[in-house]
Amino acid sequence: MSTTTSTPIPATLIPGDGIGPEIVDATLAALDALGAPFEWDRQEAGLAGVKSAGDPLPKAALDSIRRTRLALKGPLETPSGGGYRSSNVRLREEFQLYANLRPALTIVPGGRYEKVNLVVVRENLEGLYIGHEHYVQIDNDPHAVAMATGINTRQGSRRALEFAFEYAVANGRKKVTLVHKANIMKALTGIFLETGQQLYESKYKGKFELETVIVDACAMKLVLNPWQFDVIVTTNLFGDIISDLVAGLVGGLGMAPGANIGANAAIFEAVHGSAPDIAGQGKANPVALMLAAAMMLDHVNRQDLATRLRTAIDQTLNVDQVRTGDLGGKASTPEFAQAVVARIKNS
Ligand code: NAD
Repeated sequence: MSTTTSTPIPATLIPGDGIGPEIVDATLAALDALGAPFEWDRQEAGLAGVKSAGDPLPKAALDSIRRTRLALKGPLETPSGGGYRSSNVRLREEFQLYANLRPALTIVPGGRYEKVNLVVVRENLEGLYIGHEHYVQIDNDPHAVAMATGINTRQGSRRALEFAFEYAVANGRKKVTLVHKANIMKALTGIFLETGQQLYESKYKGKFELETVIVDACAMKLVLNPWQFDVIVTTNLFGDIISDLVAGLVGGLGMAPGANIGANAAIFEAVHGSAPDIAGQGKANPVALMLAAAMMLDHVNRQDLATRLRTAIDQTLNVDQVRTGDLGGKASTPEFAQAVVARIKNS
């Protein structure tokens, strides 16, 4: 067993809604077993925030992240249609979390696609996703027309693209695919394409290959041959959809972690939502959040602990064959967590 002394790192912990508290408990068990240096400040948000403080994003949670600039977050529920605005979107705006990094790596062999290893970088603050929308009433129908405004800026596109390009260089990636729809949304996604091409020509040419693909073709190519991709960078809404597709290539949402990186903070979470259909049943797969915690350890330069965590997850799944139901296994969330903890303690 390896031992390392380390200074405590203050970090905010938001268990979230639905399966959030279950997968957060499982992840904390693994982090405790590792002796991870995080000093947690536990806060509520989402539906849990509404219940405890009358606000889906309580001031206490925001203040905590302002102080720690680092958070591990369970999924937060957002009502569809009416109701409050997404706390996830508000958190991204508040802390200018402009890049969303979503790696997809095959860990469990035997699925439809073997050896997938690609990364989606999603611009996280702009585009059609910002939710500037309204209805127009005609006669007696208040919802006769629906309108949405998408906004992409040169500067906003540039910082997300720069993050993806720097990630590619730092991680020895050979190709970046810029995904757009500039044939139809010529201005809205054309600016992202144009900015990416200019940035590549001026700073990154020769460091990796840049290819550009239209989003619909990209979806088809990902299903036919995901191995042709390395790093994908795209606008907010396309990134939202493409990263779920990519999660499906490596075993589903239970296996997909994500990091929201910005100028003022970094927030780590699973790609999936609160899974209300299985909440409270001990069925949730905690791997996505555990892998997000591994990304958080990388972020604070504890690659040693991140590697031990990833190895323990891999061994639990593939050597011990302990798996939750979404991966065809029978383990409950706490049973899976205990198996990971046992592996960590022996590492
Ligand atoms: P979801 O990701 O919660 O669930 C989709 C499907 O995947 C469900 O069948 C669910 O059971 C399954 N699933 C998801 N995570 C799983 C896991 N860890 N283990 C096993 N199965 C898992 O998507 P949804 O149902 O569309 O959304 C539910 C709520 O979550 C909504 O309110 C939505 O706004 C919110 N949401 C939050 C985030 C976030 O906080 N970052 C992200 C996406 C959705």
